[in-house]
Amino acid sequence: MPDRGESESRKLLRRLRDSLALPGQGQDRLDRITHLIADSMQTEVCSIYLFRDADTLELCATEGLNKAAVHKTRIKLGEGLVGRVARTATPVNTGNAPAEKGFRFMPETGEEIYSSFLGVPIQRVGEKLGVLVVQSKEARQYSEDEVYALEVVAMVLAEMTELGAFSGPTGESLGTLHKQPITFRGATGQEGAAEGRVWLHEPRVVVTNPVADDPERETERLRAAVAQLRVSIDDLMSAASLDKEQRQVLDAYRMFANSRGWLRRMEEDIALGLSAEAAVEKEQSTTRARLEQVEDTYLRDRLHDLDDLSNRLLRILTGQGQDTGAAMPDDPVLVARNIGPGELLEYGRKLRGVVLEEGSVGSHAAVVARALAIPLVIHAERITSEALNGDAILVDGDQGIAHLRPEDTVAAAFRDKIAMQTEAQKRYADLRDLPATAACGTTVSLHMNAGLMADLPSLEGSGAEGVGLFRTELQFLVRSQMPKRDELARLYARVMDAAGGRRVAFRTLDIGSDKVLPYMKPADEPNPAMGWRAIRVGLDKPGVLRMQLQALIRAAQGRPLTVMFPFVAQGSEFAEARAFLLKEIHRERSLGHPLPERIEVGAMLETPSLAYAPRSFFETVDFLSVGGNDLKQFFFAADRENERVRRRYDTLNTGYLRFLSGVVARCAETGTALSYCGEDAGRPVEALALAAMGFRMLSMRPASIGPVKHLLRRVRLDDVRAVIDGARADAAASVRGALTSWLATVA
Ligand code: PEP
Ligand code: MG
Repeated sequence: MPDRGESESRKLLRRLRDSLALPGQGQDRLDRITHLIADSMQTEVCSIYLFRDADTLELCATEGLNKAAVHKTRIKLGEGLVGRVARTATPVNTGNAPAEKGFRFMPETGEEIYSSFLGVPIQRVGEKLGVLVVQSKEARQYSEDEVYALEVVAMVLAEMTELGAFSGPTGESLGTLHKQPITFRGATGQEGAAEGRVWLHEPRVVVTNPVADDPERETERLRAAVAQLRVSIDDLMSAASLDKEQRQVLDAYRMFANSRGWLRRMEEDIALGLSAEAAVEKEQSTTRARLEQVEDTYLRDRLHDLDDLSNRLLRILTGQGQDTGAAMPDDPVLVARNIGPGELLEYGRKLRGVVLEEGSVGSHAAVVARALAIPLVIHAERITSEALNGDAILVDGDQGIAHLRPEDTVAAAFRDKIAMQTEAQKRYADLRDLPATAACGTTVSLHMNAGLMADLPSLEGSGAEGVGLFRTELQFLVRSQMPKRDELARLYARVMDAAGGRRVAFRTLDIGSDKVLPYMKPADEPNPAMGWRAIRVGLDKPGVLRMQLQALIRAAQGRPLTVMFPFVAQGSEFAEARAFLLKEIHRERSLGHPLPERIEVGAMLETPSLAYAPRSFFETVDFLSVGGNDLKQFFFAADRENERVRRRYDTLNTGYLRFLSGVVARCAETGTALSYCGEDAGRPVEALALAAMGFRMLSMRPASIGPVKHLLRRVRLDDVRAVIDGARADAAASVRGALTSWLATVA
């Protein structure tokens, strides 16, 4: 272990800790600390700058600079040397500060006479809290050991801030930590607005003892915890059902857990006076700071791995598990880095909203949130570092925004918005039993999408005529093992019971792509969205498909049955799948089981190729349902899960509408029923355009039925068609502009 001025540093930490243990207000403590540090490091100046808001630092305490500047001097992120430390989260160490690029002269502090400058970030697990600075007149570069020692002190300050050591007399924090309102701008996962209090899926580990007296004991604790960590990784590695990717992640974990560098750095931190926990956190902070600067996705993933590993180690050291004993608020908004569909379902409808740092619109979690009608904001970067259990939070799913600890005015405006939406829903409820008949007399049949038993009550409330898409894979995704045929048959029967005679289009298992069953080994594919998925799996390995078809036939118990096959790319695939169904019917008949009174067999059009299938396909298929979510991604070659490209192409793009017109025409020629069940069918303007293009059945999330019906009933579809044709004639890329301007004048 290097002898890095250990005793001096440990002495300083001990003095710091003792000083913090003394009674006093936050400001007194900060003042004492700056004095202690300056004294111990033999520098003329020591100052603490803390964040006031996301990009402003404030001088909060100083030894050596003009005291009158305290709470007056403010620095923007990136401005001057202090701002540079804050922005880059890395130290600045110079013997000639005025000659440094970006040096900013602050006359009110008397700074110009100090030549040397050392500033280190005060950060806690990647969360920037401020900057700690020492300065002296003597033009000297601080040694590596001094930089290191100051970083350790900054780490302790960060921990103390977290524990509220610097709170003022009325409880306000001198730091801005976890107190100020913050707005997170992410993306929409599921529309809707909610107000509630934060419930962290993975609560933060709290370190209460950053400073330790006995480095040997701390080193031992650290080594024992790392040993335990290694064993737990080995246990995970020996699990049989690991796919290649999981194995890679665990390999990376094992590599880090065995990395001498990682352990050595933490042991050095301990030697300087930190406790084992604080040492882990210090290295974790460094990792997080690096994470922010790395663009390369592979490297980012590895740094994420290291971050996760640090969390595991912290949980071992502190004994703090997932369950902190805290009671869940009665209006919980779940905040998490990411969450799986099963976990989300376990929380169920008690959640008011969900805010994720990662996630994607097409993910299972989003599908489940949609099924549960819970507003979901994704890509709310860094919210898990900011939010504390119980914090007030507003979730604006429409805008993809979350307001954490909102100002009263924001909360009031938000409540108005919720009230307006409730009011609008009430108005829509009045339309519930009226048909979606446009002013020109054309009626469009509105159905809802579902996938869980929990969705079915919406059938009554929304006024949907039936279930246009029942995503059966959700039942498979939320289980830890493959469901049995009889279990499925009971479930499908309950769905049909709940539908009370209304049509339910059961889509057979659509797995693959992003929908990976936990108990099925996923295929290792370079591009799963275009890979072995949906009907392709069903035809190649028909065991599960056949079991599902049997379950559906048995569930019908003589009632009519509607089945549709997902992701059919050519007519022959449909013919093959249909043959499986006919075979199962034959088998059921020979077993003497009752057969469905009537069977409708359809296909989802989700790849452009199917639009050009032979006429015989259109003649055999009972109905076609356009799965616009997938179709669009293949039409525009833009991944539906990639936020960068997802919004680039408009559904109302004239080319896409022209393509859909072609599908409408082919279905009209052959008398094939046609519907649209992608998410766009639930957006009023899009729904209007689809109806004007000739779609007579739309399937959408239940909450969209009211707004879509409301708009449809106010316009003539031939007028809408004329506007679309006009925009096309003008060679517009999208008809959205023309359509929304026209709607503003008529609806
Ligand atoms: C679609 O692709 O539009 C669709 C409805 O299916 P899913 O979103 O489940 O892929
Ligand atoms: Mg699809």
